[in-house]
Amino acid sequence: MSEATNTAAEGSAIFRSLATGIWALSLKEHVSSIKLPYPAAAQLALDRLVLHCAARQEQYPSSVPELVAWCAERSASEWPFPVGPNMALPAARLVDEATRMRTRTCAELAVDDGAPILDAQADSVMNDLGTEPIGVGKREFLIDHVVIDRSGHRRMLATEPLSAQRFKGLKYLYGPPPDAWVVEGRVHQCSTCGLLALPTNHKQARTAWCEAETCPRDTPLSTSYDASNVQVLRTPLRLLVALPGRTERIALRTLRAAGFLVRPVGAVLGNYLVSGRGEPDRRMRVYDRMQPGPLAERALVDRVSLVVVPEQLLTTQAGYRDGFDAALPPGADVRLVSATDIATAAHAG
Ligand SMILES: [Zn+2]
Repeated sequence: MSEATNTAAEGSAIFRSLATGIWALSLKEHVSSIKLPYPAAAQLALDRLVLHCAARQEQYPSSVPELVAWCAERSASEWPFPVGPNMALPAARLVDEATRMRTRTCAELAVDDGAPILDAQADSVMNDLGTEPIGVGKREFLIDHVVIDRSGHRRMLATEPLSAQRFKGLKYLYGPPPDAWVVEGRVHQCSTCGLLALPTNHKQARTAWCEAETCPRDTPLSTSYDASNVQVLRTPLRLLVALPGRTERIALRTLRAAGFLVRPVGAVLGNYLVSGRGEPDRRMRVYDRMQPGPLAERALVDRVSLVVVPEQLLTTQAGYRDGFDAALPPGADVRLVSATDIATAAHAG
């Protein structure tokens, strides 16, 4: 292995450990107001970075709060070590510069014992749901209900008995809103992606920043709730189930309208077999992830050959397609397509 490869691998490993540290901090409270004691993962990431920089006589952050500031100020290409394209796009940040919120990239890269935390937690829930129609119904419920407040629950009990029944069985997947998303006692939902959002200011109630990060800013927020009255779907399920869920519906509709047969396949929900129109069968899954390298790795684990993502990821995230292709082993039969182009891609075989 060449020295350059070694350095990129080491840099990527440091970047991943920083993501894991920031993720651990974000579970406690807003990452910029974090207090002692710091989570072990955050201290470990700082130690690793200090060791790397000190050996090269470069500057380094001297505390965990300073580390958070460094993560907000630097994109992946601006750290004192190279971050490989398989890990993150050059513009990727672990903490948002303006809001100091941990980013989706941070959540996607965080690992526990080498395994991506978000994937492990979402997979475990999806495994529990099973693939029978009842599991399908529960997954649809999670996609449609990111936030549930007391009056919404009452309405459900009165007019939607099936939803109320589903919520009863899925309540353990909901909890109080994360501190970082509570502004003046309220929690807001983005009208574009349906995930959590921060308002520009309370009276105007427009989106300043949302959890998907790619939605248009300054649009009216869909709903605002009293934080003490709401239950919010757990973060891994918001990001890996609810967020791609909406794109998945568009992709399935498009494929069926084009005459393809689409049916669930495999032991977990979310994988589909696309067949018909004289084309070879293809296994498909819809994802919504900021980092294309780790997405390619995940697609290989899921054994899918059609990887569908929202169009806007391909148009707004520079280098997305190249980053995806570069992370695949030579000859891998995996294609990245947008939800809009899915029917053409399935036709092209
Ligand atoms: Zn949004």
